[in-house]
Amino acid sequence: MRLISKTLVAFLCVSLIATSCKREDIALNQDEVSSAVLQQIAAQGFSTEGVRKVSNGYLVEGDIILTNENLAQQSTSPNLLIANEEQYRTTNLVNKPRTITVSVSGTLTGLQVWSDATNAAIARYNSLPNHDLTFQRITGGVGNIDLVGFDEAASGGYITLGSAGFPSGGNPYNQIRINTNPQAYGSNPNLNYVTSVIQHEVGHCIGFRHTDYFNRALSCGGRKSNERAGSIGATLIPGTPSGFDAESFMLACSNGGNRDFNVNDKKAMDYLY
Ligand SMILES: [Zn+2]
Repeated sequence: MRLISKTLVAFLCVSLIATSCKREDIALNQDEVSSAVLQQIAAQGFSTEGVRKVSNGYLVEGDIILTNENLAQQSTSPNLLIANEEQYRTTNLVNKPRTITVSVSGTLTGLQVWSDATNAAIARYNSLPNHDLTFQRITGGVGNIDLVGFDEAASGGYITLGSAGFPSGGNPYNQIRINTNPQAYGSNPNLNYVTSVIQHEVGHCIGFRHTDYFNRALSCGGRKSNERAGSIGATLIPGTPSGFDAESFMLACSNGGNRDFNVNDKKAMDYLY
């Protein structure tokens, strides 16, 4: 049984979240981030609410790490929209075709479920038809994407489940962090739940933004907060429907359950890879 109530789980942001949704922390955290950096983040099309400084850049929108390299990029190509809401960064994609190796390291080797969930997430990607990306689990050495654990308790009603970043130089982001604190997944983590979070974080590693970037309150609860489309614009992929995509695997916040690719997610994967 989970240590957190279902109501609370419903509002757990899939990633970070620990403080991004907490107003008093927002004020504190923004004091730590210069206005020049916040302007850079906004120029890249990301929300400047709840930005946190991390070792290799800034954590935005709950679970996305923008590196200094990301912030320095001058994007000239438009973002892509599917279903009028799912946004993909055309400047941050993995060169294809490509086999991406995945490893599980550090404290995540202490519990079988982290390894099993990683394999299950890989299987979900590899089961997609016509894909140009193949994911391969390796058990020796460090993969192109390495999963590592961290231990962080909930704060302000939210908890960070995991985090990741965007591709650069045609390569996937190289690390996914998963919270091993029992408040995140309980003392006996549910395989499908963890699989869905890893699937989501892998999505960031290959260039996916949040489906509800335009209003993360749709999956996270709370007040409306637009993650912005950015000054570089966005292009709707023709033939895809519009409306809130309630079951997308790239919603900003987890519902605490199993979230696989939905129809639009599969269209996006097929279009991009
Ligand atoms: Zn995310």
